[in-house]
Amino acid sequence: MGRSKTTHTVILRFLHEVDGDIACDPTTISAMPTQVTEVTEHLPTTADLVVIGGGILGVATALNASRRGLRVVVVERGKRLGGLTTQASAGGYRLQFDTPEEIALLKESIAFWDAFPDQVGDATADLRRTVNGYLWVTRRHDRVPTQQAQVAHQVSMGVDGVEWLNGDDARRRFPYLAEDVAGVRYRAGDGWIDPVRATVALAEGASRHGVLFAFNTAVTGFGIDNGRVTSVITDHGDIACDYAIVAAGPFTGHVLSLAGINLPISPRIRQRLVLPDAPEVPSNAPMTIDEDTGSHWRPEGGGAYVLRPDPTAPSGPPAIDPPASREFYDLLLDPDSEVAVAKHASFWRNVWARGTQHWYVTAGQYSYSPDHMPLLGPTAIPNLGVNGGYSGHGIMASPAGSRIAVATLLGLADNQTNPFRASRDFTQHASEKPTGSGGHVTGIGRGPL
Ligand SMILES: Cc1cc2nc3c(=O)[nH]c(=O)nc-3n(C[C@H](O)[C@H](O)[C@H](O)COP(=O)(O)OP(=O)(O)OC[C@H]3O[C@@H](n4cnc5c(N)ncnc54)[C@H](O)[C@@H]3O)c2cc1C
Repeated sequence: MGRSKTTHTVILRFLHEVDGDIACDPTTISAMPTQVTEVTEHLPTTADLVVIGGGILGVATALNASRRGLRVVVVERGKRLGGLTTQASAGGYRLQFDTPEEIALLKESIAFWDAFPDQVGDATADLRRTVNGYLWVTRRHDRVPTQQAQVAHQVSMGVDGVEWLNGDDARRRFPYLAEDVAGVRYRAGDGWIDPVRATVALAEGASRHGVLFAFNTAVTGFGIDNGRVTSVITDHGDIACDYAIVAAGPFTGHVLSLAGINLPISPRIRQRLVLPDAPEVPSNAPMTIDEDTGSHWRPEGGGAYVLRPDPTAPSGPPAIDPPASREFYDLLLDPDSEVAVAKHASFWRNVWARGTQHWYVTAGQYSYSPDHMPLLGPTAIPNLGVNGGYSGHGIMASPAGSRIAVATLLGLADNQTNPFRASRDFTQHASEKPTGSGGHVTGIGRGPL
């Protein structure tokens, strides 16, 4: 079970004693010791819980479980935290959802982000949070009644601060909007965080509760006896465990299949155009989403992220380095493109006309379930859990989703009433897969953003 130093695998061990239960009581951890006391190069041979994956969901899982007093090991194939899908994301979070389950998930998660320093036990923890709002724009007058109904529906379900504005009122508030914008829905309290900073801070918080992180270590199988996982097998040895939970992003379905579990999680490539230097982009602009095309953008640094989930992108195998296309720049920025961001925000014409050599396209994979909601908690192997399938919501919903995954796996919460249980019936959602310009533009219903 030992490992050679030539593998360069490092497991950081932070010691400290945890007392008491936890969950979301921030006061219990803010006083915890934070001293790093040991660095070891040996993979532990036992754990209460092995978490597979060191993205934001894996570390949020580890933090939650360790606050319950479990000895947790996070096994990550890469050499750092958040290095796969988490770093490819736009970091957005919003309460503007249309189902009570998702609204509850996001309310709890946003409350966690609100109390982040206390939650991770570090008064200096900085999410780089920006609360500029989320703005959904349509230029189609026939879509206005749907927007208005959606806002009324969300308000009736307890989404506070969401409002609908006609085109003129919207342009007064957001002067960059095009003359033909017919209506917007907006919530000022939504925004975005830096997902990698969040992941690292969550991991530091978990470390204060004794969580160990094994990098450069891939899970290759499971020991199973009598229908239960007895160990997690890695390329650096086995870890005997009471529980394991898979939070491997787009690899979640693959890793679960190593235990004979088949869940409907399909990865699809999603690209992000990064413009580090675009002074035309108002720094106080919200996440601005064109409901007619699915194209959206938000300020980032001195420029912007520009994105669009391609509704025609097929699901494919999980990828460590999903391909990104330079054509994405032209697709989103050329004002003649059908899905150009200039269609709804005129300053983008100037960005295109000015031109720049400073841009690049990155790619990650959304992990879709059939109803676009996450799969959380135990699988058909009761001590093997899942925390994945969030589509485009894995950053924003990671705190509450991870709490639910851990609580139901440990039997501390009823999995039958868990709306995100892996065993739920997906057949009724077969027709809700994204179509046309994206499921999110078809009115009340969930979609790819
Ligand atoms: C372009 C884009 C934009 C997005 N924008 C947003 C947004 O604005 N807001 C939002 O909430 N979400 C957004 N998302 C979705 C979000 O990024 C994901 O839901 C989230 O990052 C998933 O986190 P994760 O920890 O499950 O996955 P990952 O970050 O992919 O982490 C999984 C980890 O598991 C590891 N792993 C895989 N297989 C193994 C193995 N066999 N052994 C050990 N380790 C393994 C991987 O190396 C990886 O580090 C976006 C996604 C994309 C692609």
